[in-house]
Amino acid sequence: DFEIVFAGRSNVGKSSIVKALSGSKVKVGKRPGVTLKPTHVKKGELVMTDLPGFGFMNGVKERKQDIVKDKIVRYIEEGKQRINIAAIVVDAGSFVEVVDRWDQRGELPIDIEIFDFFTEMDLEPLIVVNKMDKIKDKDQDRVLDDIIERLGLFPPWRQWIDRVAPISAKKGDLQALNSILRKRIHSAKRDPLL
Ligand code: GDP
Repeated sequence: DFEIVFAGRSNVGKSSIVKALSGSKVKVGKRPGVTLKPTHVKKGELVMTDLPGFGFMNGVKERKQDIVKDKIVRYIEEGKQRINIAAIVVDAGSFVEVVDRWDQRGELPIDIEIFDFFTEMDLEPLIVVNKMDKIKDKDQDRVLDDIIERLGLFPPWRQWIDRVAPISAKKGDLQALNSILRKRIHSAKRDPLL
């Protein structure tokens, strides 16, 4: 099997992405309460794992956020040998604003903490920028540059096409993500130790 895990804030579209990639009927939208369990969807040899979303409600107890963060960290640590790809999913329309707001409070957003953690685990995490349909064509390059810069990668984003996937799950445009997945699966097969 080839496992890809998706982490991200609630509502960024993780379940829409898993649904679009798998063609299966994953529940999308408001879920009853907060799922703390990773959910798995299989398609052929690909296993897609939807990690619990964070940042669900404004002002929700920080302790709960920490629980979610711990779950994600533990899942990755325990599955490190098995997990082939880790992806952070962000909302093209709001990510920069959210990061800057946290930054002004002197805090590090969970997205960035998780991304850094994936990097420390040598997972070369993908940045899946969803909801690109919300961004005007002429603004797309600038928005993507701003996003990857917040995550510590140097613009222009186009030099990171193996790590950055601008997509729209809603429009069914997952081409950038699919092509990265194909490449990674291909090289994992060529070199099974990878
Ligand atoms: P999750 O909480 O991250 O699993 O997010 P969901 O997949 O449940 O999606 C949250 C909301 O965002 C839903 O209302 C989706 O219809 C919407 N959504 C998902 N993908 C896109 C997208 O590519 N573009 C836009 N505009 N909305 C999207």
